[in-house]
Amino acid sequence: MLELIQVPCLADNAAWLVVNGAEALVVDPAEAAPVLERVATSGARLVATLITHHHPDHVGGVAELVATTGCAVVGNARDGGRIPHLTRRVDPEQTTVVAGVPLEVLDTSGHTLGHVAWACARRFDVVRRHGHGGVEAVAEHLAGRPALFVGDALFGAGCGRLFEGTREMLAQALRTLADRNPSSLVCCAHEYTAQNLRFARQVLPDNAAIAARADGLDEEMGQARSSLPSTLALELATNPFLLALANADPVVAVGELRHRRDGFGS
Ligand SMILES: [Zn+2]
Repeated sequence: MLELIQVPCLADNAAWLVVNGAEALVVDPAEAAPVLERVATSGARLVATLITHHHPDHVGGVAELVATTGCAVVGNARDGGRIPHLTRRVDPEQTTVVAGVPLEVLDTSGHTLGHVAWACARRFDVVRRHGHGGVEAVAEHLAGRPALFVGDALFGAGCGRLFEGTREMLAQALRTLADRNPSSLVCCAHEYTAQNLRFARQVLPDNAAIAARADGLDEEMGQARSSLPSTLALELATNPFLLALANADPVVAVGELRHRRDGFGS
């Protein structure tokens, strides 16, 4: 049985715990304590930590997890100098097996140079949402899907800021994610969906899918108080950055949209 569990960390971060029978892996542990607590409840052994990029709110829990569990740390070889305790260096376009789960490494540079996403083609039997201020809840409508662990490359109805890369890189990263299986779960590292939908409504006021998602967000978040994971199909229909890829010049369109979003605030 393959299980996906959202673990709320810090103020608005999400770590993603994948439990595959007796073994577990975690993606982007911002802090160790909530991850260790949830791993203990699962009964599995934490064998690896996957990192999408080096920012402190993605690697903050690594040292303690390594010290406590001896888990491997898997990340982009290119960011070897910036990811703490990196023990397994992988390259984009490579496939690696972690905790018995095959994962494809996708180059999603832009937010940072060296940002990767992890694509899991295996389908999750159970998906548990758990946002800040909510309770853990099984999301039955999300079961039976593969998953993308996207870090800060993609958010619910948005994407991460361009801290290091170019708008060309951002457009390419979005294209890479947009081309995956649309039924995929989109496991983002932050719950920014509400703010992003406010921006989306402003820039695309006539888009009925965006309006419907915004109107239904509270119900969607439910008692878990989480809109994550989202699905790629939903993002393809309502994420203005993915919609901008259809523009005649997607690099310019994505770049301008990112610029406007930077000035929109949260
Ligand atoms: Zn980041």
